[in-house]
Amino acid sequence: MPSAPPIRPLIAGNWKMNKLPSEAVPWLRTLLDRLAAAPHDHCDVLLNVPATHLVPMAALARGTDVRLGAQDVSAHAEGAYTGELSAAMLRDAGASFVIVGHSERRAYHAENDALINAKLGAALAEGLVPILCVGEREDERLAGCAREVVLEQLAGDLEGIRLAGADELVIAYEPVWAIGTGRTATADDAQEMGSAIRADLVARYPESGASMRILYGGSMKPGNAAELLAKPDVNGGLIGGASLDADQLLSIVEAAR
Ligand code: PEP
Repeated sequence: MPSAPPIRPLIAGNWKMNKLPSEAVPWLRTLLDRLAAAPHDHCDVLLNVPATHLVPMAALARGTDVRLGAQDVSAHAEGAYTGELSAAMLRDAGASFVIVGHSERRAYHAENDALINAKLGAALAEGLVPILCVGEREDERLAGCAREVVLEQLAGDLEGIRLAGADELVIAYEPVWAIGTGRTATADDAQEMGSAIRADLVARYPESGASMRILYGGSMKPGNAAELLAKPDVNGGLIGGASLDADQLLSIVEAAR
């Protein structure tokens, strides 16, 4: 069988609930200037920002190769769902990606796999690329069942989800104990889980699973990014804290080379 072409890395920031829209615009202007001076054809750059930031940031990013994404999406297309944002609204505001099933939403908003599955369907129906987050808690890793937990999440989250190609979905492996803690999975552990996720994707999507992007997330920083990103099943990063700082984000973009 011919080997699949190399997977283009995706360096994706997750700003969480940080920065004001009025701060984000000058920040993005600086980032765009610096990216223009530092060729980065080797990877895609994406910022998943609060929904309030999308319209002004998208106006600035138009015509550049920096993509914008949201951090959550409603499972519903429209209607009486106070406070929710539909996939169509996010797309219209300038998002092309959306994070789905982040561990903070699983933990603080009681999101379960059935809801995450519905959100994936809603995002895909509007042409948004979901970044599906999966990952084990520390007690689950210590109990030796990290792999089972992640595969179970994938089974529930992706049930019945049909894809036309590898670019329609991104998976982020984010061990919960590494998010925002400064602790990182070793590159070997990230690869071990990445390869288990890859096998699951290939079984589920024989046409596209081998080329789908699998990101690592959990305290990725300039100091550890190159080692993590060198692994075959770490095709980019979902980066929280370090993505708020242009210097750190640019260093991680460089580390993906
Ligand atoms: C995240 O928010 O998905 C994340 C990985 O955060 P951090 O990089 O800060 O650990």
